[in-house]
Amino acid sequence: MLCIFASGSRTQRKGGVLRLYWADRVAKEIIDSGKFKPYWVDDMKTLSGYPTIGSLRGPFVHDFIYKALQNAGVEAKYTYIFNDFDPMDEVPPELKEKFSQYLGFPLKNVPSPKEGFPNYADFFAADFGNVLRELGIEAEFLSSWEMYHNGDFDEVIKEALDNSEKIQDIYQKVSGSQKKELGWLPLQVVCEKCGKIGTTRVFEWDGKLVSYKCEENLVKWAKGCGHEGKISPFGGNGKLPWKVDWPAHWKVLGVTIEGAGKDHASKGGARDIAAELCKEVFHIENPYNLPYEFFLIGGRKMSTSKGLGLKARDAKDLLPPSIIRFLFGRTDYKQAVEFDPVGTMAIPDLFDEYDRCYKAYIEGSDEDIARIFEMSQIGDLPKKESTFLPRFRDVVNYLQQPGVDLTKKFEELKGDSLNEVEENILREREKYGKIWLEKYAPENLNFQMSSSLSSSVELDEEQKSFLSDVINLIEKGLEAEELQKELYNLSKEKGIPTKKAFTAIYQVFLGKEHGPKAGALLVSLPKEEVIKRLKESVKK
Ligand SMILES: [Zn+2]
Repeated sequence: MLCIFASGSRTQRKGGVLRLYWADRVAKEIIDSGKFKPYWVDDMKTLSGYPTIGSLRGPFVHDFIYKALQNAGVEAKYTYIFNDFDPMDEVPPELKEKFSQYLGFPLKNVPSPKEGFPNYADFFAADFGNVLRELGIEAEFLSSWEMYHNGDFDEVIKEALDNSEKIQDIYQKVSGSQKKELGWLPLQVVCEKCGKIGTTRVFEWDGKLVSYKCEENLVKWAKGCGHEGKISPFGGNGKLPWKVDWPAHWKVLGVTIEGAGKDHASKGGARDIAAELCKEVFHIENPYNLPYEFFLIGGRKMSTSKGLGLKARDAKDLLPPSIIRFLFGRTDYKQAVEFDPVGTMAIPDLFDEYDRCYKAYIEGSDEDIARIFEMSQIGDLPKKESTFLPRFRDVVNYLQQPGVDLTKKFEELKGDSLNEVEENILREREKYGKIWLEKYAPENLNFQMSSSLSSSVELDEEQKSFLSDVINLIEKGLEAEELQKELYNLSKEKGIPTKKAFTAIYQVFLGKEHGPKAGALLVSLPKEEVIKRLKESVKK
């Protein structure tokens, strides 16, 4: 937990301008308004697969606001809802074959893609929940399915059904596009015959039961069975369509603060409709809105380079959790976060920026910047004592030189032995430095081929077989990026762990366990030399 003083001490004047960390500014605005009490921050997501790194922006924006409220000395709550009653409306490519048959079913009624989980929704919720917890997001996780099945939504369902005309009017008025449909009621029930929820249309409500039809062509992604029936809308038999479901959650829980990505927060979008439904149908205050910008990553490169994905669960393989928090936390929610780590110095720059904020925190020199550092921490804040920070750039430089003992090197630079905190920082940077060199470093970093094949290099048969096939790739004269991809594919084809395959290349050419992107390395060296060295290593 972050435990930091009262709010007033955190402001400071710079050239006459009052500066305040963005989340503190929002918290202050919320508190000063005298509204939005009790302070209940909420965010939610439908998981039909692994979410992308970009989808962390929402949970982070809400987490920073939640913590800023707590730091300001007020009580606050933060819930994160998994919309697990939603229909499966898309299937991730890797699951298409097995799971397309479940399109239209509630996610909770689809089997788990892996053993050990009761269903599809729970599998992905557990996975994403772990990711969020590892990144220090301290929300209480809730299941929408459970709330519906507990009957918590019965009252709002009745209100929505009783106001179906009004809801359609609001849709039309706010979005300006939707035509009024006859015989449409704001509810979808689970078809008693085929079990799908995405395909049913409710057309009548008599105050007790709803009449519905499971329509063959209601949606493009699933087919209904044609069944018609009458059923109670309560207790988990049905759910509200998501534009109504969203503000209904606010009412059921008592949410007072919830933002949305700019796609939903645009004028006439779902957030505007929700605000109107709060006023006209559910009779609650519209929660404090945070229309946040996107997180943009060098998408194309990122997804093709060595088969790296863009999943949120991969984030901690890219950067330490505190640096990820820093990346998301340093930018005001109203601005896009742009981050392109592949083939750039973005990651070393990010570490430098982090160190600058760390120093400001220790020295108390710039409170605005120090707050960014505080918000990046998971668990207790470090002591405010002089700390030697091994610079990430230096770490990766030394990692590229053979035979450097990092601890000794940095003790030399510091002029003293490293304490436990410093040693831990160094070990973390060593780990992520190796990852950076192998996966993200620019191709023009300096590297030198070892003068001869080191006698200490030991390759097993798998590695030799891999290197032998690499000779064919080199002969093709590919570009660096293309070669990188082919090397990766080759390791997959041969069933050799990628790391093991690439280590063989680094050992043979650099006499080290790691290095820059192998494609770039091999292309930068004279072709004849590369082939000669590969042949030599295979014979060894
Ligand atoms: Zn059906």
